Amino acid sequence: MSYSIIAEYVWLDKNKNLRSKARTLTSFPSVWPRWTYDGSSTGQASGHDSEITMIPRAVFDCPFRGERHKLIICDTYDSEGNPTESNTRHSATHIFANVIEQHTWFGLEQEYFLMNLETGRPLGWPQEGEPEEQGKYYCGVGSGKVFGREIVDRHYKLCLEAGVTISGINAEVAPGQWEFQVGPVEGISAGDHMIAARYILERVAEEAGVGVEYDPKPITGAWNGSGCHTNFSTKNMRKGTDDKTGLDWINEGIERLSHKHEEHMAVYGSGNERRMTGEYETSSYDTFSSSVAGRGCSIRIPRHVNEEKKGYFEDRRPSSNCDPYLVTSKICET
Ligand code: ADP
Ligand code: MN
Ligand code: MN
Ligand code: MN
Repeated sequence: MSYSIIAEYVWLDKNKNLRSKARTLTSFPSVWPRWTYDGSSTGQASGHDSEITMIPRAVFDCPFRGERHKLIICDTYDSEGNPTESNTRHSATHIFANVIEQHTWFGLEQEYFLMNLETGRPLGWPQEGEPEEQGKYYCGVGSGKVFGREIVDRHYKLCLEAGVTISGINAEVAPGQWEFQVGPVEGISAGDHMIAARYILERVAEEAGVGVEYDPKPITGAWNGSGCHTNFSTKNMRKGTDDKTGLDWINEGIERLSHKHEEHMAVYGSGNERRMTGEYETSSYDTFSSSVAGRGCSIRIPRHVNEEKKGYFEDRRPSSNCDPYLVTSKICET
């Protein structure tokens, strides 16, 4: 009995909200077993043929129950064995299979707001009216400047305990707004790590009775929205080749992206047009642009990358509520 393992199966429902349920495994399995759930209760199946199958894809230590217990990130299949509509991971794996030798790396910067569930406003906001204007909150230190640090910090530590590759956190530009970064993680695993990190954040916020808001522009007006900047590199970009520098490869990638702006915007998250006004560190929703060190453009080449002539670039367009499997596989495909 004491060797039993609790496996928390985590998946995305019809609206790509997280769902999870737990089961007991009486010994450590050689293969994590498939499991099913009632798809008619998640909007993913009809009542008469309701079973959806979960296939385990990534396993993390459960930071809530202790490392012997696991978080199992799954994708989902209908009764005929076809991927469900929200299973974007399935097609993404086919795209990544074509570029294995390029070892594509991703760094995903997840911005979000922590919400007071009683007022429906971000932490640190008054019941009515607005807080003092933006300026002192970004990477702020001290009372009246940051709100919810204990939640953010607990999330950070628990991600590390789980084995999620989280590279940092910071307070963002608006009060109650935060960011964590997942990466660098290779290929399809970037999406898996992001789903695990979002799951852990929801759970930590749940304990604190606080909401997590991923809408890209939850507060209208003179307040930053939330994005999911996606940093990307291939082996050639990181190292260069005999005939080209890494920066040449980066510029070639950016050139390709410039011809597919609309296709990319279509999978970069919903409501992004409310965020990408060209103001508040965003570029215009409709037009592609790139620059070294610029924050008002679609793609930024970090200054140090430009100087060293190798590294990665940042796609600043994806919104905070984006599907990481769609975003990473689209960049890879282009
Ligand atoms: P910003 O300066 O835009 O705020 P961050 O430091 O928040 O950037 O995030 C940068 C992310 O890029 C981190 O997650 C980091 O791990 C990741 N990263 C670093 N090097 C690479 C690389 N070569 N390829 C892809 N991602 C990378
Ligand atoms: Mn960042
Ligand atoms: Mn940021
Ligand atoms: Mn960034």
